[in-house]
Amino acid sequence: IPTPVDSLPGLVSEVRANWLRTAGASGTGVSDGPGARSLAFRKQQLRQLALLTKDHELRIAGALARDLHKGLHQARITEINILHTEIADALSNLDSWVGDTKVSGLGLQFMSDAAAIRHDPLGVVLVIGAWNYPFLLALAPLVAAIAAGNAAVIKPSEMAPTVAQLLAELIPQYLDPRYYRVVNGAVPETTALLKEQFDHIFYTGNGAVGQIVMTAAAKHLTPVTLELGGKSPTIVHDSVDINETAKLITFGKYLNAGQTCVAPDYVLCPRKLQEPLVAAIQETIAKFYGADPQQSPDYGRIVTDRHFERLSSLLRPFDAPDHDAKIHGHVVIGGLKTADRATRYIPPTVVADVTLDSVLMRDELFGPILPIVPIDDNAPEWARACFSDGARADSTMVQAAAILRTKLRESPLALYVFSRNSSATQWLLDHTRSGGVCVNDVIMHMVPCGLPFGGVGGSGMGAYHGKFGFDRLSHQRAVLARSPRLAFVQQIRYPPWHDRILKI
Ligand code: NAD
Repeated sequence: IPTPVDSLPGLVSEVRANWLRTAGASGTGVSDGPGARSLAFRKQQLRQLALLTKDHELRIAGALARDLHKGLHQARITEINILHTEIADALSNLDSWVGDTKVSGLGLQFMSDAAAIRHDPLGVVLVIGAWNYPFLLALAPLVAAIAAGNAAVIKPSEMAPTVAQLLAELIPQYLDPRYYRVVNGAVPETTALLKEQFDHIFYTGNGAVGQIVMTAAAKHLTPVTLELGGKSPTIVHDSVDINETAKLITFGKYLNAGQTCVAPDYVLCPRKLQEPLVAAIQETIAKFYGADPQQSPDYGRIVTDRHFERLSSLLRPFDAPDHDAKIHGHVVIGGLKTADRATRYIPPTVVADVTLDSVLMRDELFGPILPIVPIDDNAPEWARACFSDGARADSTMVQAAAILRTKLRESPLALYVFSRNSSATQWLLDHTRSGGVCVNDVIMHMVPCGLPFGGVGGSGMGAYHGKFGFDRLSHQRAVLARSPRLAFVQQIRYPPWHDRILKI
């Protein structure tokens, strides 16, 4: 049920007015009593959010099943439990995060002063969520917003409508509606919201809309966090155990039917590893999802007909009789043959011998298609020549880094490297860039609250999770309280300076 567009300016200014009237973190200030900025209130609201998920876990899982065919266990491990961890981390650390950071060692002329950094709230944060993890992506930024003492307007993705509706129903029952409001709707409602002034916009979704968000934010000079996507490469070195590697890649790629921002998008591996890797992935798919993944309660569906069509059209050329497999690759697992439009089912698919000019290597796939791009067992000269220290670099790593830099020109959200050769891995990290890295696993780098989660370049700006989210939605406010004790030293800064120089 969309929120009426003409109510949005009033809604945002009401939340702002409420927030402005509330007391500060220490509970002091001009106020109507404790509110979004008071420390005790922040903690109480975070506990309420935890209670919401506890009380309604089955309804949340039911909504995720309806929108994305997620089972209860999957709903727990990929959304609900992660949110709980975020809340628990904020609750246990908030006292220390909020406290002023004392600063010393500023130099002789400040030696008798008190210097500190306050962590002030920003104001009203707009959270725009995405559909693929619709519960987590609407609420994890909200945890950071509450922890940092902000008010928030939450706009869940309209493409997961059951979850969006559930959030609109439950949030007002658990959180204080003076400061936290849910707005539902699609492009017209988001467009209307973006015309309003916020103190921060936290957007998760694709880069094209990210540009729209940033353009709208520029009008009010509002800072933004953009959590975007990209083609996250997975580089497999010949030092690894292929079966274990295949298991982890299969898990990350087909989780939520590939609709995960940090899913391994494609694999780069030495040609000699391709065949054993494909065989091991095939075996793992059968173990995870059975002989027919369509019957598996653990295998997801494509979110909309439009995305089903987008993915089908990527695979269609591989079915064409005149398809040139030598240039573009060929389907070795899954493919369109067993896809089902009516239920938006696309089987776990692997395309081998993919070349860099393939249609599969253009945009983020965001679906259950895994291209494997074989690279030479021995690095060619052009790849080594890309780096001043490329001559002696590991063959797999130098090719991977050269391809990422020159052919794909990407700064993906994640980079995965499977390798038991730590110096080769280190070399790769030194010569590539990405939002985050996971070595010998996939996706797990975004789980701990102690690591920042965010993109770089085209995969986004700003990071969150744990204290990183608190800092992102706080203002680091410098406070220098001067002592009168060394006032005489200050005389040197007052004019007339010219006169003083002459005297010296
Ligand atoms: P989406 O379609 O749900 O859009 C995200 C939000 O943008 C929604 O709330 C929607 O209402 C709003 N929106 C859509 N069109 C708009 C417009 N024209 N103007 C204003 N607002 C608009 O999600 P999506 O973009 O399809 O999500 C998939 C992308 O998001 C992928 O690229 C994925 O990698 C990325 N993603 C990133 C993260 C992350 O944490 N970095 C997480 C999930 C998804």
